[in-house]
Amino acid sequence: MVKCRFAPSPTGHMHVGGVRTALFNWLFARSQGGKMVLRIEDTDTERSTRESEEQIINSLRWCGLDWDEGPDVGGPHGPYRQSERTEAGIYNKIAEQLIKSGHAYYAIYRADDPRTVISTSTECPQLEKGYTFTVKFKVPEASNITFNDLLKGEMSFSSDAFDDFVIIKSNGFPTYNFAVVVDDYMMEITHVLRGEDHLSNTPKQIMIYEALGWKTPQFMHIPLILGYDRSPLSKRHGHTSVDHFRREGYLSKALMNYLALLGWSVDQEIFDYREKLQDFSPSTISNKAVIFDYEKLEWVNGKHLRMLDIDELVSQFELWLRYTGKADFMEAFVENPQYTKEVLKICREKINTLSQLYDFSLPFFLEEPEYDASYVEKYLTKEWSLDLISEAIRRFEDNTDWSVEGVEKVIRELAELKIASKKNTFQTLRGGVTGRLVTPGLFETISVLGREKTLERLETLLQ
Ligand code: GLU
Repeated sequence: MVKCRFAPSPTGHMHVGGVRTALFNWLFARSQGGKMVLRIEDTDTERSTRESEEQIINSLRWCGLDWDEGPDVGGPHGPYRQSERTEAGIYNKIAEQLIKSGHAYYAIYRADDPRTVISTSTECPQLEKGYTFTVKFKVPEASNITFNDLLKGEMSFSSDAFDDFVIIKSNGFPTYNFAVVVDDYMMEITHVLRGEDHLSNTPKQIMIYEALGWKTPQFMHIPLILGYDRSPLSKRHGHTSVDHFRREGYLSKALMNYLALLGWSVDQEIFDYREKLQDFSPSTISNKAVIFDYEKLEWVNGKHLRMLDIDELVSQFELWLRYTGKADFMEAFVENPQYTKEVLKICREKINTLSQLYDFSLPFFLEEPEYDASYVEKYLTKEWSLDLISEAIRRFEDNTDWSVEGVEKVIRELAELKIASKKNTFQTLRGGVTGRLVTPGLFETISVLGREKTLERLETLLQ
C-alpha cells in the first residue's frame, strides 16, 4: 500500500510551497487508496515552537487536507514529533546499531572548538568537562549511490563527494538527514515527494538506508516555486504564508486549485482538487520551474467565489468575518439573511476575494453610508444637486415597483428631465445611496437597498 507523509519543521508559518508539497503527497496517497502521515520535524530546538506547529496544522486543515497518522490523531507508529521520538531514545538506538556495524562513530571535540575532531571512538566516550561529542556517519569510499527519481529519472552520485556527517548532535538530537531516514522507515513510508532543495540530501539518506540494510522509499523531487525573479519564493516577493491568504479572503479551494496548477498538468484550469483525485499520477507532474503569480491566484479565487452556491458563499463569508474578527459587521449581516444574499449576489460580480467583498458590500450593511470626499466634492456641491436629489426622492416615493426594471425606469425618466447630465444623474444617485462612486450596477444596488433605505439615505443628503 502507498504511504506518503508531510514532514514540516515548525519554525514559522505554513509556506504556500509547503502546502503544495503536502497537496501532491496527499493527491498521490489518496489517488492510490493509500495513507497519509503528518510528522513534525522539530529537532531544531532553538527555532521550533508549539505555536508554529499549531498554526501549521490549522492551515493544513483549512486547506482541506487530512492524514491517518499524526501528532493530533495518533497512530501505530507514534510519537509523531521528532522531539518526542528523541526523548524515547529511538534515534540513539539506531545510531548505536550503526556504530556497532562499523557505519558510524563517536567524534570527540573540545567544547570551545566544535569544528575540530580531536579523536574518534566506537565506545560511548566518558568525557571530562570541556569536551563534547557527536555521532558521525562514516561515508563509504568510492561508492556509487543511485536512485530512480520519479520525476528526474536515474540519479547517480559518488560517495566521494561527501564527508562523514553528523547524525546525532552534541545536544543528543538527531540531524535532519538521520531522523528522516529512521522515521520514514519506521512509519513505513513508500513514497517521498518533496522539494528539489532536498535533492542533495537524498544520497546521504540513501547511504544510511543501505548501511542499515533497509529498503529505500521511492523519491520524487519537485521543482521549487519561484518568485518573479526566478529565485525561490520568499518574503522578498510578497506574502507567502497560507494564513495571509486566508485572512485576505482567499477560499482554500481556490488556493489549492492554484497551487495544484503549479506543476500539475491537468486538463482543466478551475477545479476542486478533491474531485480531480483520479487524474493524479506522478507522470502528470512537470519538471519545469514554476513561478508564483499573485494576479493569477486572485483571478482563480474570483472564479471560485462566483461559482459558489449563494448559501455556500454566505457561509464562507461568515466564517471569514469571524476568523478576521470583523464582529461589528456581523450583526447587520445576520439580521436579514435574504437581504444579505441579495447583496452578496450583486457584489461578487466585481470582486475576487472575500476582503474585497467585505469592502464592496460595506455600504449595504452600514447604518449610514460613509461619503467619500470625492463624491461630495464632485456631485454634492453642484448647483443642480439639491434639485436632482429632491426630484429623485419624489419619484422614488411614488414608485411601487422596486424590481431592477422598476428602479431602472424611475432613474431613466429622472435623467430625461435633464436636471443634470445622464452621467451626473447616475453618479449622484449612486453616491447618494452608497457614499461611493464605484458600486455594483446602480439599478441593482437601489433595487436591493429597497424603498426604505434608499429614501432615508437620499433624504439625509438634504439635511
Ligand atoms: N522537515 C523537512 C522540511 O521541512 C522535510 C523534508 C523532507 O520532506 O524530507 O524541509
